[in-house]
Amino acid sequence: MEGEAGERVDLTLLRRHLGAASLAVFLCAAGLPLAAPPPDAAAPGVPRVSDIRAWTNEIYTRVAIDTGDEVSWQANTLRADPPRSLPPRIFIDIRGAGIRDEILRKPVEVRNGLLRQVRAGRFDRDTVRVVIDLERESTYRVFALPGPFRIIVDIDGEGAIPVLPTSPEAVAPPGPVAAGPSPEDPAQPLITPPVSPRASPAGSAVPSAPPAIPPSVESPRAAASHPAPTRKHRVRVMIDPGHGGKDPGAIGPTGLKEKDVVLAIGRKIREKLSGSGEFDVRMTRDEDVFIPLEERTAMANKGRADIFVSLHINASRNRSAEGFSTYVLSRGASNREDLELAARENGVPIGKLQGVKFIIDDMFTGARKNESLRLAKTVNDAVVRHVSTRFPGAQSLGLKQAPFYVLVGARMTAVLVEASFISNAREESRLRDTSCLDGIADGVVEAVRYYGRNGIFAHSDY
Ligand SMILES: [Zn+2]
Repeated sequence: MEGEAGERVDLTLLRRHLGAASLAVFLCAAGLPLAAPPPDAAAPGVPRVSDIRAWTNEIYTRVAIDTGDEVSWQANTLRADPPRSLPPRIFIDIRGAGIRDEILRKPVEVRNGLLRQVRAGRFDRDTVRVVIDLERESTYRVFALPGPFRIIVDIDGEGAIPVLPTSPEAVAPPGPVAAGPSPEDPAQPLITPPVSPRASPAGSAVPSAPPAIPPSVESPRAAASHPAPTRKHRVRVMIDPGHGGKDPGAIGPTGLKEKDVVLAIGRKIREKLSGSGEFDVRMTRDEDVFIPLEERTAMANKGRADIFVSLHINASRNRSAEGFSTYVLSRGASNREDLELAARENGVPIGKLQGVKFIIDDMFTGARKNESLRLAKTVNDAVVRHVSTRFPGAQSLGLKQAPFYVLVGARMTAVLVEASFISNAREESRLRDTSCLDGIADGVVEAVRYYGRNGIFAHSDY
């Protein structure tokens, strides 16, 4: 009974205090079937909180909660409770899941000015509760990624983007629910509304087509959200060679692997871009290792990169498909091929892609959209031009948009390059030629230099 009452309170609070997009995310999650029997962590087939991972600096934190199988979950917040020495908290209730014993025993300690710690416990017989203890009230967003299922919490400690109501009167829901505290702590809810002005209704099965490239350099919303502090460091570039380790990416007709090609290109970009001293270039991976998509984004955010370039090679069942394209994040794609590509790069069936649409216009990604579109076009044009000088006839498929998980939550200008088709025998052969890889790298370097030198990053936060 107590658990049921708690659930009702949580739902009401979410409706009142969280943004529309988060409500959609919540409803989406709540619509999942609940596991009826109490979870047994050791039982096969029962989802279980197997790991809690965190990437953090003093203004940004991403927490990933791994459950493996899909679970029903709810997120909510609590204000600080000084008499009980409790800080502001975000908590995630996960139904029908077990939890690994080591996680119960050992909180993830951070204490960096934004995040205090992440801890977890069994809230009741059927619910695992993960609690994020904050140092101060912060804006946050929670979403889930499938395959394997993980719940992601992005916390923004800058405080410049949201306008938070702070008085208890402004936040307490009316009526009897107001007296209904969270089951864990008898405190008022903490208000941290995620910023998402253009949420889509839940349940749309067909992803919408991406919008046209906006004409302005910076949207009014983005400009208002980022009051143009002056950057005090070299332009930081995070190069992200896709795939790696157990994930080879696409494989060509003669066995060339995408993971090896993009790592080689990434190293070339780093070498070429680092030479002048203008750029601080880092890579998400510099060896043949597997890194989850959400970790790549988190690495760029934690490292306060100004530019994020994810490197991939395309593939298609149509063996004659060819050409170069560069993508930015959007909630949908304009054609089936782009959706199939995003599904493959995300490592999920195409039917799973729709959930990502709730999180595109989030507090980080939305403000960077225009800059990302411009960088993507510049990158693609330059890559095609440089490759064409060595290999006449290189085709441009142009600037595109699709729901790539690796771009979700990126705080900086972020693009994803699909540098020709490894499934095309001629292009696969070209990708074995180091001069082609040099051409691709030269194109990315030229575009990044152009952007860095022309002050496109004037709105960079750091
Ligand atoms: Zn790829």
